[in-house]
Amino acid sequence: MSGSSFVSWMRSAIGGHRQAGRQWKKASPKSAYDVIIVGGGGHGLATAAYLARDHGYGRIAVLEKAWLGGGNTARNTAIIRSNYLHDYSAAVYDHALGLWSDLSAELGYNVLFSQRGVLTLAHSQHDVRQGQRRVFANGRQGIEAQWLDPQQVAERCPPLDIAAPRWPVLGASWQPAGGVARHDAVVWGYAQMADALGVDIIENCPVTALCSKDGAVTGVETPFGFISAPKVAVVAAAQSAALVQSAGIVLPITAKPLQAMVSEPVKPVLDPVVLSSTVGVYVSQTDKGELVFGAGTDAPVSQVARGSWAVIEDQMAAVVALFPSFSRLRLLRTWAGVVDITPDASPLVGETALSGLFINCGWGTGGFKAIPASGKLFAHHLATGTAHDLLRPFALDRFERGALIDEQRAAVVAQ
Ligand SMILES: Cc1cc2nc3c(=O)[nH]c(=O)nc-3n(C[C@H](O)[C@H](O)[C@H](O)COP(=O)(O)OP(=O)(O)OC[C@H]3O[C@@H](n4cnc5c(N)ncnc54)[C@H](O)[C@@H]3O)c2cc1C
Repeated sequence: MSGSSFVSWMRSAIGGHRQAGRQWKKASPKSAYDVIIVGGGGHGLATAAYLARDHGYGRIAVLEKAWLGGGNTARNTAIIRSNYLHDYSAAVYDHALGLWSDLSAELGYNVLFSQRGVLTLAHSQHDVRQGQRRVFANGRQGIEAQWLDPQQVAERCPPLDIAAPRWPVLGASWQPAGGVARHDAVVWGYAQMADALGVDIIENCPVTALCSKDGAVTGVETPFGFISAPKVAVVAAAQSAALVQSAGIVLPITAKPLQAMVSEPVKPVLDPVVLSSTVGVYVSQTDKGELVFGAGTDAPVSQVARGSWAVIEDQMAAVVALFPSFSRLRLLRTWAGVVDITPDASPLVGETALSGLFINCGWGTGGFKAIPASGKLFAHHLATGTAHDLLRPFALDRFERGALIDEQRAAVVAQ
């Protein structure tokens, strides 16, 4: 990691960063590739990088309509955990958690992965039952998770008001291996790795339509013209549905804005990540000292990355109810992404009815944490033509088979 050592940073800073090279090349589109990946978010870039490294693919393009990470990957609150309820979800997210541990070394890029633990609060008997059920399920899945009583919660998180009049804390599930990472470093790290392996990363290149002939994909239309490929993977989050529809395939995805915000930086006050879906907020502190706040989605269906004031107001009320001392913080900024939500709040990964056309989307409000696993396992599918066992349950046909993986109702936690 000599490229990001303290000495090299200092040398670069003294030189006004004039010597700093590009982290990835500015590629121009070629007329043909073996695989085209549509979408330069975390899932798309990780897929390209593993396809090149693990499967030796040489001619791969990532086509991104704007800038890398400009979608949800560099807008999220960066929470990582694997304590899902259903076995299929827990297996994928726990596989990802294992990969996160070595990701900085693997990428040669510090993604600031910090395993500070994740607390999911319970404020009612219903929450307690749900939380304990999940802890028991995690025990069976081999995932370390514990149930904490209110006093243990207070010890882990002193600024939390466990006796809040409206929302007393009755306990919490605790996953010690959970935490946060720096989201844009993940994007840049995978982009650098893919670029070094010969992947063409082409920004400002929107795919406007998918092209096919005789039931098989032939390539994509872009403002630079037609680009051919026998395999196209749509990894375009909330815009996947519209794109895939150009090939006559309907995806059960609803697009909604999801907002987040940060405070001014302060000294360390909050060690764990704290989630409360009942009160409607989740909080963590960045290495810079800012407190990051997230909430549930805005209600209206929309493709516009801008949220409503009502959600911000409710989110602030929730923060102050749980952490009264945070009322003295000033907010720095708020923003939104557009998340891709499926009816069972689980992703859509795999083949489609059009031969050669693959999808990897529907990660909704919680897909950041899955990026390393999704990239690796989806690359396996693209290269071998066979879905990896861990991803097979997330294929589109689960809606035909009625084999839903309903994490929304099961875990009642968005992130
Ligand atoms: C506010 C917020 C908070 C969140 N918090 C968390 C969290 O704490 N933990 C967690 O695990 N997850 C969280 N998420 C969810 C997570 O960010 C997403 O699930 C994940 O980033 C999805 O990654 P992706 O690569 O699929 O999509 P994206 O990062 O959105 O990338 C898709 C890319 O496709 C591009 N694209 C779209 N259409 C086209 C086209 N036609 N041609 C070319 N390119 C196109 C877009 O520009 C975009 O860059 C949060 C999301 C938001 C918005």
